[in-house]
Amino acid sequence: MDLKKFRAKAAGKKKELTRFLKKFDKIVPDDLHEIVAVTDATVWRDIDCTTCANCCKTMTPTFTPKDITRISAHLGMKPKAFKEKWLEKEEDTGDWVNVSQPCQFLVNDKCSIYEVRPADCAEFPHHNKKPFDDYNDTFTNNLIHCPATLTLVERLQKALKKEYQGYD
Ligand code: SF4
Ligand code: SF4
Repeated sequence: MDLKKFRAKAAGKKKELTRFLKKFDKIVPDDLHEIVAVTDATVWRDIDCTTCANCCKTMTPTFTPKDITRISAHLGMKPKAFKEKWLEKEEDTGDWVNVSQPCQFLVNDKCSIYEVRPADCAEFPHHNKKPFDDYNDTFTNNLIHCPATLTLVERLQKALKKEYQGYD
């Protein structure tokens, strides 16, 4: 994955694709989830996370209490010590997040705690969320972080343009 190229492309497309995603606030096609599923399958034929890891380099997952218990046990640490070493509590949400990026568990572009990683990481980039349109803000935010999301939204824009005249 050429992340420099991705960043340049994402910067150029962000405004247009954000405007497209906003349309879901007003118009939600009946078969949106089928279209998302079919389009998303094409995305994963072209995007390989193992050559990217940009989410781990530029974003933080949220760590639920269950995540903290599981990961700290895996590392042979007490949850309190784990939090003190790596996490901070976000003021506005109360979520536990990484203090710094890239994530401390990213080693040679691979997750060193993959089997016990946070649920948020396991679900990222959340393309299977339902209703898909409830996650507009997430996808908008992730356009500049995740090549898979950028590709999905670009392809959705094209797919919906063809099927819904006047939609875009
Ligand atoms: S825990 Fe693993 S998958 Fe999650 S951000 Fe860190 S390195 Fe990436
Ligand atoms: S989820 Fe997105 S940002 Fe993370 S590794 Fe895969 S393509 Fe890259």
